[in-house]
Amino acid sequence: MQHDKNVTATIGHFIDGKHVGGGSRVQPVFDPATGLSAKSVALADKLTVEQAIASAQAAFPAWRNTPPLKRARVMSRLKTLLEENADTIAALITAEHGKVLADAHGELQRGIENVEYASYVPELLKGEHSKNVGPSIDSWSEFQALGVAAGITPFNFPVMVPLWMWPMAVACGNTFVLKPSERDPSPSLLHAKLLKDAGLPDGVFNVVQGDKTTVDALLDHPVVQALSFVGSTPIAEYIYARGCAAGKRVQALGGAKNHMVVMPDADMEMTVDALMGAAYGSAGERCMAISVVVAVGDAGDKIVDALAKRTAALKVRDGMAHDAEMGPVVSSAAKQRIERLIGEGVEQGAKLVVDGRNHTVPGRENGFFIGGTLFDHVTPDMTIYKEEIFGPVLCMMRSPDVGSAVELINRNEYGNGVAIYTRDGGVAREFVRQIQVGMVGVNVPLPVPMAFNSFGGWKRSLFGDHHAYGPEGVRFYTRHKAVMQRWPNTASAGAEFAFPQMK
Ligand code: NAD
Repeated sequence: MQHDKNVTATIGHFIDGKHVGGGSRVQPVFDPATGLSAKSVALADKLTVEQAIASAQAAFPAWRNTPPLKRARVMSRLKTLLEENADTIAALITAEHGKVLADAHGELQRGIENVEYASYVPELLKGEHSKNVGPSIDSWSEFQALGVAAGITPFNFPVMVPLWMWPMAVACGNTFVLKPSERDPSPSLLHAKLLKDAGLPDGVFNVVQGDKTTVDALLDHPVVQALSFVGSTPIAEYIYARGCAAGKRVQALGGAKNHMVVMPDADMEMTVDALMGAAYGSAGERCMAISVVVAVGDAGDKIVDALAKRTAALKVRDGMAHDAEMGPVVSSAAKQRIERLIGEGVEQGAKLVVDGRNHTVPGRENGFFIGGTLFDHVTPDMTIYKEEIFGPVLCMMRSPDVGSAVELINRNEYGNGVAIYTRDGGVAREFVRQIQVGMVGVNVPLPVPMAFNSFGGWKRSLFGDHHAYGPEGVRFYTRHKAVMQRWPNTASAGAEFAFPQMK
């Protein structure tokens, strides 16, 4: 791991419509495929965060009063700009995150769909109207913007996850401060510029780069009304507790351990295909990645050889290579941690079928690569089952029947995603009913809801009442107001001391 001293580019902040340089605190940003760092990211201190919040606060009154249709048109223009700049954005993702270029394009596309949904905001903000709820009294409800909202996002989707948050927040009339991951900070700055090009007034969207100091300044600031967080469970829990204690509205999405139950009657070819993409896509660094297969009956024996063969043959390359199926993991620390966990799996008695440790890619010897790894006969007491590995490691467990598989999954502390592969509709239906997980796939490995539905896990995968984006996003970023109105064109009935009632 080297920092190239000849290159001094520092990725800064975007405040009040302008690029702003960082202070003295910086951190290197790495290209995971080469292991080299050609740039640094600034880490905002409290003062910089306060400047961003002040800019968002100043922009709020005019933006809130901008007609929703005009706000929606900014989103429509942004969608076009994101599409026109897709190659640049995808290349930025791959250069800092490491995922393969096709996957980076996929992430962007799923993100753009949230911008598209936000451009329907005049429709989404419509309330309900009731006439004559009392004598000459009409009643309606409306959804009003909260004020300044903030988002804190993880490294693994540097484009899609921020796009889960701010397009809807901003379209609803809020102003926003985003704190992206310090490991892949560049795409958010490009978004800020594109938003300005799309006609967004200065101050409505701000980016502060940074770390815990930066996040704490956002958490504690009284002007910030709402906080959206996506990241690991310990930090999600911390953000939720501290943000709620400060009186904010908080949604904090955490980590995951996603299982796929494979029934003996499943289409095994389809199952193996699905597992390959869901376990090893993006090197397993997805919160919806399948990391555990629960093979029921003899299903494990039917798939283990095919899985092993295909895992060993995965094309692990620099994500920029056109034939790459899997790129590196994000950092040297992540690689070391994942390889340590693989070692613990072996020590604790799991059968290591394919070992991805010590994987080198010719010409990229310093890159943070790990080959696809497959364990069989994993048991619930093992560390590789209990911890979120967040790497290209698939653990197979054996279960005598679907009931035991459901019990196992329901005992797990996480509840983000789950899938079942079967041809039996009755088994699938009962599985969907009983499973304690927020997003369920039936013969679908990654059941990530579309932008017009909402995304969220259960248990320790989400802290808060609202799921992310879609209709839940509209509710999260607005306050419901009920209004009752009468005009004084009827004679007063006199003072009423009983609670108002229709007789
Ligand atoms: P992370 O929790 O380390 O970091 C997330 C964000 O929190 C970053 O912006 C980071 O700067 C900030 N942060 C880190 N430590 C902090 C601290 N002590 N105090 C305050 N802020 C802090 O997560 P990550 O490694 O960037 O991302 C991977 C994790 O995110 C995985 O656990 C994955 O499952 C999870 N994730 C969940 C979802 C979901 O929808 N549930 C989606 C994507 C990723």
